[in-house]
Amino acid sequence: MFHLSFADDFVISQAAGTVIPSEKTESIDPAEAVITEMRQYGISPLPRNYELMYRFLNRSNMRLVREFAALGQRPTQLELDAIGMKFLPHHHPASAAEQSIDSVHEEMLGMIHVFKQDQFKLRKYSNVLGETSARISTDGAVSQDGLDELGRILSSATGATMQKSQAIFLQLVEQAQELMRLKSELEEYKRLSAIDPVTRLSNRRAFDTRLSAIYGEQSKAATQALIVADIDHFKGFNDTYGHQVGDRVLNATAAVMTRSFGSEVFISRTGGEEFAIILDDTTVEDAWEAAESLRVAISSTPLKDQNDGRDCGRITISQGLCMATDASSPQDLYNKADAALYDAKKSGRNQVKTYSPKVKRLLSLLKV
Ligand code: GH3
Ligand code: MG
Ligand code: MG
Repeated sequence: MFHLSFADDFVISQAAGTVIPSEKTESIDPAEAVITEMRQYGISPLPRNYELMYRFLNRSNMRLVREFAALGQRPTQLELDAIGMKFLPHHHPASAAEQSIDSVHEEMLGMIHVFKQDQFKLRKYSNVLGETSARISTDGAVSQDGLDELGRILSSATGATMQKSQAIFLQLVEQAQELMRLKSELEEYKRLSAIDPVTRLSNRRAFDTRLSAIYGEQSKAATQALIVADIDHFKGFNDTYGHQVGDRVLNATAAVMTRSFGSEVFISRTGGEEFAIILDDTTVEDAWEAAESLRVAISSTPLKDQNDGRDCGRITISQGLCMATDASSPQDLYNKADAALYDAKKSGRNQVKTYSPKVKRLLSLLKV
């Protein structure tokens, strides 16, 4: 069991005039105590705030305790982060996205507070109505003054309530818009984090996710193929034409791939001058045909530097193909397609090789 102070045990510090946890301790689940206190202080349940509140409650650093207590109820996230960064080595300010979400969250807490106050006022309003209605029904009649007074109370209470509702409504609209903006911002971040900036194809991370999904559904694995492609002698190409022209060729290669396979097919740049393609609903024959068509398309595309019109010759690619059914896991599938690619390179480049018993022997020699 851990010893922590209860909220009720806070005392006023004479020196600073602030509220701090007292020395008195009781047995209590620390996580529960931290959460309860955070709720009472109106602090957002963010991981970095948990640690701060924990330090505050266990009183291990009295300077932190005093500065934290001086913030009073409902401290802002900025104030909390300032203390966190001062006293806690791991406390990092939030990222832009997290900050925006935090601020929306804070505003929502504010709204909840306003709603609570409104509920209280409405309850009072309802009591007035109840009392008046009781008077009318017991007296059987009510004086003109009484009616005037009742009219004034009702109209002022109604007006105030309507104003509040209007303010809340506008706040809600603003926050809904802010949430929509955040949502599309996050979706854009998500999209960009899966894209290779040079070719605009999916990147390695997206490929890994897609590859692991193959064996998630057995019915899909039965008809999927992986092709890994690598540009031949690309180092030599860079040496001759320069790295920047090389980058533009990577981009042009990606465009030929997209045209050749169609925009529905998953094509990714997995590294340097290496690409990976996942074909759905295919057979080994059809997958081989598709890879062969790509090989022909690439090797027959003349490369011209758009900047200076220079003729840069042509490039070729080697490809390795493996059906998902010939492998037992994403890594195994990748290794086998890669071994077939190695076979294509060894056999003279500019060709497609399928994973087969021969490649299997090669694979065991390579110990991949
Ligand atoms: P191989 O036929 O055996 O694949 O020969 P290679 O020269 O293509 O292969 P190697 O692995 O020796 O070299 C790969 C080269 O690809 C090295 C580097 O110059 C080039 N490369 C890798 N990433 C990039 C890139 O982002 N941009 C450019 N322009 N070149 C790259
Ligand atoms: Mg290469
Ligand atoms: Mg390579």
